[in-house]
Amino acid sequence: MSIQIPRGTQDILPGEVEKWQYIEKVATDLCRAYQYNEIRTPIFESSELFTRGVGDTTDIVQKEMYMFEDRGGRSLALRPEGTASVVRSFVGNKLFGNANQPTKLFYTGPMFRYERPQAGRYRQFVQFGVEALGSEDPAIDAEVLSLAMGIYKKLGLRKLKLVINSLGDGGSRQAHREALINHFKPRIGEFCSDCQNRLEKNPLRILDCKKDRDHELMATAPSILDYLNEESNAYFEKVQSYLTSMDVEFVVDPTLVRGLDYYNHTAFEIMSEAEGFGAITTLCGGGRYNGLVQEIGGPETPGIGFAFSIERLIAALEAEKVALPIHQGVDCYIVAMGEEAKAYGVKLLHQLREAGISSEKDYLDRKVKAQFKSADRHQAKYVAVIGENELQENKVNVKDMATGEQEEVAIDSFVDHIKSKLV
Ligand code: ATP
Ligand code: MG
Repeated sequence: MSIQIPRGTQDILPGEVEKWQYIEKVATDLCRAYQYNEIRTPIFESSELFTRGVGDTTDIVQKEMYMFEDRGGRSLALRPEGTASVVRSFVGNKLFGNANQPTKLFYTGPMFRYERPQAGRYRQFVQFGVEALGSEDPAIDAEVLSLAMGIYKKLGLRKLKLVINSLGDGGSRQAHREALINHFKPRIGEFCSDCQNRLEKNPLRILDCKKDRDHELMATAPSILDYLNEESNAYFEKVQSYLTSMDVEFVVDPTLVRGLDYYNHTAFEIMSEAEGFGAITTLCGGGRYNGLVQEIGGPETPGIGFAFSIERLIAALEAEKVALPIHQGVDCYIVAMGEEAKAYGVKLLHQLREAGISSEKDYLDRKVKAQFKSADRHQAKYVAVIGENELQENKVNVKDMATGEQEEVAIDSFVDHIKSKLV
């Protein structure tokens, strides 16, 4: 029996992978414009990093982590998300001591969660995320949100909805927490066992429950916005006014809470509103986490970030029928007739490639007609034909595949000729 790919994972084959490369390039380039620099952290970390950094009442830690013991008896986990690792690195490498603050970072790479695989939900998926550490200026919140939206817009997505909320500071959250407990407690028996556990530990997360989302108490739950103290309110107002001044459209949704425990103040999600996108519409999630750096052993440092998966981004591009500008064809295909010409073809091919021109030849000893077919399959822009005549006259016959026009070109100027055609 052949060996199957693990559930919830996928191979990204040639033809598809170019989309990933393009997306990563667009995202990376925009990060550069926004002055976020790349950080690469290990794919596995000590399990404790996530129980502390993500929170042990979260689904991620309770149900979704791939944990294992290594041969030295250490408890390790495949990373389920990127923020905790970035913060661990920020603390361990004392990046808070750098002269340039805030520390603005981005990352991309595979994350692992033991989830029930379905459309848009994988067990291995690739996240792209950013973190800005060391500033509690609402302008940074607005910057991070506009960067996330900017990446999607640059890629051609239009049917997007940016939803924001504020979870307030510690004081606001405490008052809201009590109101939530009072609201749910009398009827908590009607909720799932997870929510019953959450009631005392982290009642905010009841609002994020996927099973009980239609319970009538959800719609009438006390809104965090009514519990924001003056400072938190002023912060939230500023974030909104910066977004407005940058022409970033958004809606405020007081029921939006993020799954992770360490969020405060700004929380946000970006959804796809494309028709037929499917049940899972959240493309990107993020928010501010002012207690996390300390939780992981560093000095008190505010932070904010987001993460999105490339899988859901590609699904959104497909739902909106956005075609990415990817040309996979070769610029020049060399067709050779006869042994001597073949040998010469190897040399010309090498020259083309050294000049950075994507080029190909036949390796299956095909007849001329079949070589032309192969050139078509490679979507060649130009086909260079070398036969005995051409060799004798030191020429190459260059055919423009779009127009059908043919030219005789001196072998010495062949590479320059193709180059000039391609600009
Ligand atoms: P969801 O509510 O869909 O489970 P989440 O709250 O667990 O999302 P986050 O932990 O905030 O998601 O991760 C941020 C982003 O990562 C999501 O908005 C989504 O784009 C992506 N993501 C999360 N889990 C998966 C997954 N299993 N497969 C693909 N993408 C994912
Ligand atoms: Mg999840």
